[in-house]
Amino acid sequence: MKKQTTAIHTPYVRSDAYGSLAVPVYNNVSFEFDDAQTMSDAFCNRIKAPDYARISNPTVTQFEQRVKYLTAAEHVTAVNSGMAAIGTVLLAVAAQGRNIVTSRHLFGNTMALISGTLLRLGVKPRLRDLTDLDAVESAIDGQSACVYLETVTNPQLEVADLKSIADIAHRKGVPVIVDSTVIPFTETSLKDLGVDIEVVSSTKYISGGGTSLGGLIIDYGRHPWINQRIKYDLLINLGVYMTPQTAYMQTLGLETLDVRYQRQAANALWLAKALREVPAVKKVNYVGLEDNPYHELAVKQFGPTAGAMLTIDLPSKTSCYEFLNHLQLIHRATNLFDSRTLAIHPASTIFGLFPERQLEQMDVRQTTIRLSVGLEDPEDLLQDIEQALSKISR
Ligand SMILES: *Cc1c(COP(=O)(O)O)cnc(C)c1O
Repeated sequence: MKKQTTAIHTPYVRSDAYGSLAVPVYNNVSFEFDDAQTMSDAFCNRIKAPDYARISNPTVTQFEQRVKYLTAAEHVTAVNSGMAAIGTVLLAVAAQGRNIVTSRHLFGNTMALISGTLLRLGVKPRLRDLTDLDAVESAIDGQSACVYLETVTNPQLEVADLKSIADIAHRKGVPVIVDSTVIPFTETSLKDLGVDIEVVSSTKYISGGGTSLGGLIIDYGRHPWINQRIKYDLLINLGVYMTPQTAYMQTLGLETLDVRYQRQAANALWLAKALREVPAVKKVNYVGLEDNPYHELAVKQFGPTAGAMLTIDLPSKTSCYEFLNHLQLIHRATNLFDSRTLAIHPASTIFGLFPERQLEQMDVRQTTIRLSVGLEDPEDLLQDIEQALSKISR
């Protein structure tokens, strides 16, 4: 079956008494057993049966199963946010004295996790330019726990060569973990590019309109010990498992993901092209534009669409603020891939607590506005942007 069909028709155990066509929501905590031996078998993982919702729940299991079908993964674990997915995976692979080879361009909280929380636990960050393969090669050593990177970095929109990085890492026996939030897994197979584990903030494309926080750990099974640690140690001991209500909403989100994504990506491309003609816009950054330096590599790795995140540069921080304040249709809010178009000034919000010097290293500029393009008619979006730009003082 093609992915859009699989997203809707993934089989699940339909032991529900009424034959509910949509997956039932088991919004309960505990599950009863017929006898003591079966109970022990379930608790000791000799049989698969739900026992307690921090560890397993049929609604969440069904959601994980759908993602597994869509990605051809070996193991999928659903957790309660994108950061929970990233934190859990990094805690599974890293330990005191080990290092994480990663980019200077990372999602803000991931940067804070790697260069703050994990550093405090004795795990060392090695922040490199991952578009430079020699830099990747020389950063990896016997103490490297993983190479960690993002498909399209946010907000710099940088794309690294995943296949070449995976080849280098695998030669040294090091797993490659990729945050694929920005391009959905229905568009591409990172498994084929050699990625070992994908982490996703399902809050974004999958939830469908910002309905719920969630995260996914998609493990292609090349390092079985990692899944063991995640499922039988971290998930249980940290209490990060997804809730049944979220799994239900995100299962519905998966069913419409492809149509929403295609429309949002088409809107983003249309808007990016149109914004290049607007004089107050100094620069439009979108990987889908043919003259973007990462365009060719992005098409090769992720297919013809380039997601729905783009940035524009305005003359100054003041003009960015004025622009945001004059928007009438587009919302001043964070989140990505909501149904509504959202605008934010990343340097003073998501990255607002980083010192200026570090912002420069991360290439987060005071003149940049990030747009997450929604499902509206793009002509209305352009009109709103143009009227807001006409009011900035320059
Ligand atoms: C939003 C986001 C995250 C964090 O996800 P949450 O669900 O908000 O915890 C991680 N990585 C990227 C690229 C994101 O956009």
